[in-house]
Amino acid sequence: REFNKTFYHKDLIVKKSPTSCLDQIPKDVGKLGFGQNFSDHMVDVVYTDDKGWGAPKIQPISDFRIHPAARALHYGVQLFEGMKAYHGVDGKIRLFRPEMNMLRMKRSAERACLPDFDVEEALKVIDSIVRLEHKFIPKSRNGALYVRPFMLSAEPTMKVAAGGEARWAVLTNPVGSYFKPNDKGVTLLADPGYVRSWKGGVGEFKMGCNYAPTIFVNKAAMKMGCDQVMWLSGENRLVTEAGAMNLFVFWKNEQGEDELITAPVSSGLLLPGVTRDSVIELAKEWNEFKVTERNFTMDELSRAIKEKRVHEFFVSGTAATVLPAQKIIHKDQEKGIDDVLHIDTTGSKFKLHERIFKTITGIQYGEIEREKWQRIV
Ligand code: PMP
Repeated sequence: REFNKTFYHKDLIVKKSPTSCLDQIPKDVGKLGFGQNFSDHMVDVVYTDDKGWGAPKIQPISDFRIHPAARALHYGVQLFEGMKAYHGVDGKIRLFRPEMNMLRMKRSAERACLPDFDVEEALKVIDSIVRLEHKFIPKSRNGALYVRPFMLSAEPTMKVAAGGEARWAVLTNPVGSYFKPNDKGVTLLADPGYVRSWKGGVGEFKMGCNYAPTIFVNKAAMKMGCDQVMWLSGENRLVTEAGAMNLFVFWKNEQGEDELITAPVSSGLLLPGVTRDSVIELAKEWNEFKVTERNFTMDELSRAIKEKRVHEFFVSGTAATVLPAQKIIHKDQEKGIDDVLHIDTTGSKFKLHERIFKTITGIQYGEIEREKWQRIV
């Protein structure tokens, strides 16, 4: 048999579950939460060094059989993606810019020394599982089917090296929204004592190794009444992102211009979010204020907040689209800083975060047409 550099949708094997857990899943999207409910099936594809990729399979969700020495279990050779399938107002199911997720997944795979695959073949396999699980997609503007593709090294070895058996798999979860009406927004902890990424590191890739160390930090942040951590990087405390979301500041800059600013992906310090990219593209199209991707520091941000120049501060990601922020707890032991910074994002006369939320969700749920961002399943 020849060596397969990718898996192919035409080889897909579907083994349907004789039973369904659909009845056990809350009907009320408000009770769905995020990530604890699974649909009936999963995708599983095996890669080996001698044959390359095998046939993709859709099968009932079952435990993985991997050797206890599998590299993913010891050295964290693993990566993942996250996107959503939406039940549109016209009854059609749409994925939002999923090729961006697959391209990001390929970049993560290259950095993790895991095998490459073809974007369109992967998307066709994802279309198939989403179609099969369509009953799990909440028919609500507040819900969606979260799609979690992931890859891992299953090679049984104690060697920290490349190669061997790998898996490409997909799980799907019906999820509710993060958005709580009337909420004034999230509170963030900004403390350079905790670092998520650094120059030359892997912050720009969606590898599990970037997330494991954040659980401890999140717990510390929550004890202080914060919802998420705002990640600062380097000696000059560059503002990068927040929690598992990118971050935007809409302010009057020091030149007196209204400007939407976010950290650049070229720094390699943050995940290039699909939502982030969409916010930037829309804001540039609207052409009503300056849109800037550049490095900025916590010092600049703190000063702008104190000088009442910040109109809005919000975070962006697949989970919540955009979420307003209302407060930053800023601690910097080295510099002797212990501040609480308030931003009245939801009270802003510009209502920029709301407009972005309405536009992006409008596209996701098929209310607004933007074909190049909508993959109909
Ligand atoms: N930053 C991090 C660290 C993330 O995990 C995510 C979620 N994928 C994001 C930003 C937002 O990315 P996206 O808009 O693609 O969901």
